Amino acid sequence: MTIIKEKTLGEKIRTDFPILNQEINGKPLVYLDSAATSQKPLAVINAWQEYYLRYNSNVHRGIHTLSSKATDAYEEARDKVAAFVNAASRNEIVYTRNASEAVNLVAYSWGLNNLKSGDEIIISVMEHHSNFVPWQMIAQKTGVVLKFVELTETGEFDFEQYQSLVSDRTKLVAVAHVSNVLGCINPVKEICTIAHQNEAKVLVDACQSVPHTIVDVQAIDCDWLVASGHKMCAPTGIGFLYGKLDLLEAMPPFLGGGEMIAEVFFDHSTYAELPHKFEAGTPAIGEAIALGAAVDYLTNIGMEKIHNYEVELAAYLFERLCQIPGVTIYGPKPNINGEGRAALASFTIENLHPNDLSTMLDEAGVAIRSGHHCAQPLHKYLKISSTARASLYFYNTCDDIDAFIVALKDTIEFFSNILGRGKN
Ligand SMILES: *Cc1c(COP(=O)(O)O)cnc(C)c1O
Repeated sequence: MTIIKEKTLGEKIRTDFPILNQEINGKPLVYLDSAATSQKPLAVINAWQEYYLRYNSNVHRGIHTLSSKATDAYEEARDKVAAFVNAASRNEIVYTRNASEAVNLVAYSWGLNNLKSGDEIIISVMEHHSNFVPWQMIAQKTGVVLKFVELTETGEFDFEQYQSLVSDRTKLVAVAHVSNVLGCINPVKEICTIAHQNEAKVLVDACQSVPHTIVDVQAIDCDWLVASGHKMCAPTGIGFLYGKLDLLEAMPPFLGGGEMIAEVFFDHSTYAELPHKFEAGTPAIGEAIALGAAVDYLTNIGMEKIHNYEVELAAYLFERLCQIPGVTIYGPKPNINGEGRAALASFTIENLHPNDLSTMLDEAGVAIRSGHHCAQPLHKYLKISSTARASLYFYNTCDDIDAFIVALKDTIEFFSNILGRGKN
């Protein structure tokens, strides 16, 4: 009797990503760097190419056919993004270049105009530089005090400490939904509840959650949420800011220029309605349209399916990595159901530099990242200079994890031979 094993999600959709089908250094590519940027499926590449091949034209300005076609596609993509995160209105979605620009938009437009000396902003020690440096810059300009939520012993957001930090001086809490280093999933809904009881606003950095699971801005009740297209199957150069309508309406423009005005006089200007008020200049049109295609692609597979599959990958990655001698994995353990961790692992191996690890793994066709992953404060907090990180997406498989583990073991053996010889 032959048992035909059903294909996993990763096996089924792998051919949608032609880039994965190649050899690196004579070995099949194993791409484990999706937390830095995801690969793009054909459907997205085609939508982007279609725009440039068939209807490249500027948006919102032209009456001619190509311009109205481009405008329609650009605005339809906004509807798709709004539905994807369950925004109450399409006008709550502002296109930005990436998540970093979205945080800066809030920092400069809202932060500079609403914060004063003595106010407090709470962020966590695990924040990506994108959700760290802009607040530092605003603090330096305004005299606002930054307070930091630390980690629990299990390597997670310390909710109790967070509660003790929140006071009537707190004006903003800015926090990652999922850490790009620790892989922990932060209780953003509960964080919002506590902040709102103290009349503080909350910005959620959803770069590592929106691509991987259902994110509902109304259920979370955050005031702003930011994400980058390139980590969710879309091109670089496009990301978005979600903001509650009344807040965005009260915020002044961030950048001035074309597209964002209603009327310009010699001594002043009036501004366009939302969301155009925040979209100065010609936007990344083809990239926004491709972001819409990425949302369609993910929705067609189903975010729940993607999430469930990644829970399996995450648990398997953690289990295999734990068995490596001398390994330290940062962040929480998966719970008994294998949940509670994103499908990524930052780790160190005793006596081995992460850069040497990723160089050797690259020789074996395995792409992992080493360094501080744009989270230097977290690495300083953990008293380490760098980590290696393997990060997965739904196009990865358990075979990828196996290949990674084999290459990792080979690397460790290679270096222990060298070091062993050196001691003689
Ligand atoms: C990647 C990432 C960012 C920054 O995204 P950009 O596209 O570089 O602006 C911010 N936060 C987290 C958690 C990330 O993983």
